Amino acid sequence: MLLKARTESDELLTLRSLNIRTDLTTKEKFHYQNLERGYEGELRFDSMIEDLSEERYIINDLLLEVNNSFFQIDTLLISQGIIHPLDIKNFQGDCYLRSDNLYSVTTGREYKNPINQLNRSASLFRQLLQNLHQHFLVDASIIFINPEFTLYQAPLEQPFILPTQINRFLRDLNKGSSQLNDGHRKLAQKLLELHQPKHPFAKLPVYTYEKLKKGTFCKNCKSFRITIKHHHLVCNNCGVQEKIDQAILRNVKEFCLLFPNHKITTQAIYDWCKLDLCKRTYTRALKTNYNTIGSTKNTYYK
Ligand SMILES: [Zn+2]
Repeated sequence: MLLKARTESDELLTLRSLNIRTDLTTKEKFHYQNLERGYEGELRFDSMIEDLSEERYIINDLLLEVNNSFFQIDTLLISQGIIHPLDIKNFQGDCYLRSDNLYSVTTGREYKNPINQLNRSASLFRQLLQNLHQHFLVDASIIFINPEFTLYQAPLEQPFILPTQINRFLRDLNKGSSQLNDGHRKLAQKLLELHQPKHPFAKLPVYTYEKLKKGTFCKNCKSFRITIKHHHLVCNNCGVQEKIDQAILRNVKEFCLLFPNHKITTQAIYDWCKLDLCKRTYTRALKTNYNTIGSTKNTYYK
């Protein structure tokens, strides 16, 4: 049973938007692409565990804190007798392990040591369970989700589940019977309560309203070449259509994400969307979907 679905983090959403509206540095772009790839891999794993048999809880993207240390669990699988914190890695290509570091054969690039990361979060998770007076068996693993990933020189005792082993891991899991009781339910509930919604280490570039490109881009191909036809925006690049109201709301969401301290007013959204529409259209969309605060000139929306 899925208790917490996965959504893009604010960090990923912000970088996605900045990547369209400004020129990210090479380093920022690299970080952004890593996040996109990671998220893609997590979604792929989600679809693989959709149909797990027996009673189990699935909690995605848990960010927890214990003794002032934060740690993240991509997927937490709670079964009757065991809890699996899983780290999903979407690495691609040929890699090898040397003294616990992972290197790409082709590029020579060094990846952050995934074993240290996993050991750290597993140990913090055990501490958290101890603090909560819970005695569950914890078995943490790294899932390498990309079918085009090969790992050379991986010692047998490492907590790795390689692409060719994922199906077997799921089959073995499914073999064991699992019935959850009140204790499992309470633990899951507690973990959800302890989840931190804001990532303290999100690495966001510094940006200002003035420096960002304004305007509405296509929801599909991100092109700014948009034409208005009747009640739709039509992309001149890929042809995808979007209802005007929906495009405005998409823009409002993006604006709020990028500028949480700015007030949402008709004028602000008008300036941000830069569409050839009268202000009344924006006001109507805002009024229908947000709460109106104040009246006349100082009206804003929440
Ligand atoms: Zn398009």
